[in-house]
Amino acid sequence: MRKLTVDLGNLASNLSTMRKLVNTESEVKVLGVVKANAYGHGMLEVAKRLEQEGIDFLGVADLEEARALRSAGISSRILAWLHDPKDDFVYAVKHDVDLAVSSSDQLLRISRASDELGKPARIHIKVDTGLGRNGVTLTELDSLLGEVKSAVDSGKVITSGIFSHLSSTGVQEDLAQIAKFDEAISKAEAAGLSFEVRHLTASDGTLSYPQARYEMVRLGVALYGLSPFSDNRAKEFGLKPVMKATATVVQTKRVPAGEGVSYGYLYKTPRETTLALVPVGYAEGLPRNASTKAEVLINDRKFVIQSRIAMDQFVVDVGDASVTPGDEVILFGTENLTADDLADAAETINYEIVTRMGGRFTREYIG
Ligand SMILES: *Cc1c(COP(=O)(O)O)cnc(C)c1O
Repeated sequence: MRKLTVDLGNLASNLSTMRKLVNTESEVKVLGVVKANAYGHGMLEVAKRLEQEGIDFLGVADLEEARALRSAGISSRILAWLHDPKDDFVYAVKHDVDLAVSSSDQLLRISRASDELGKPARIHIKVDTGLGRNGVTLTELDSLLGEVKSAVDSGKVITSGIFSHLSSTGVQEDLAQIAKFDEAISKAEAAGLSFEVRHLTASDGTLSYPQARYEMVRLGVALYGLSPFSDNRAKEFGLKPVMKATATVVQTKRVPAGEGVSYGYLYKTPRETTLALVPVGYAEGLPRNASTKAEVLINDRKFVIQSRIAMDQFVVDVGDASVTPGDEVILFGTENLTADDLADAAETINYEIVTRMGGRFTREYIG
């Protein structure tokens, strides 16, 4: 009745496309970001496939996500970067989860976990170069570097990486962040530290700044076949959508002119027409504010959802087109109807569209 089809073949193809793009001058590693249920695509299925495809690292926001991956038997390197003050770093160190370090307190707690296990923790120093989220500022960096150096010397931590994240505000702001990141790296090296991977860019920065790929890039949205830019250029980059959202028409009916349709009568039939009922609503993540703007495809024809999207369902005026119960309705995920189109209708970004899909959709994995 409602289905998200996740094409893992397209995921693998996007990884290969991005690898070709970044490996022009030197070998650049790829961290595949699978946080937030792999942007709604299904974290375990996506992580398993990326592991099969030889991904260098998997990236998650928090340790709960890392734990779910390890429990499912994922053995790839995993980096987690968003920690609660009470997070159990013993679990992380024991199960070889690389940890971002954004503060002295985190370093201290990670070192304690390492002491308890008699095993060094792998850390990536997170530097705030101008996003204002987590990470140490350049002012705090010097003292943290001293602490990291002594933790390295006493065998408590291994400095696997140093990283930061761009604000994607504009070229000038991004270049200023790249310069700050280089400054942070120089400071760390002057403090006697070295790193397996320095990494800064997500999908957008990876495509925009070839000079800032260092030893690794962190890719989320591009692996899911979507463009990180607002101009819907995924196809131009050779990226293929991984998620397709569909449903079946559950009822059709012939109604006269002047009938009010759905809550609030945002739409009244201009003439005698056929209404088709589709069992997807905002409970599935279809944005309510896309009412009167979003388009769907039924039998290769586009129709606007002119009435109010409800919790469980919406209605489409299909005119005199031949539409019958059981026909497939495509919400997004094809060449001529993309997540970007729905994002535009809802005044948001493609990231939010795929990530919020859930509710009563069933997921089918192909490819
Ligand atoms: C989510 C995230 C990414 C991935 O971003 P995309 O734009 O989806 O490629 C990379 N790095 C960090 C730190 C993130 O939080």
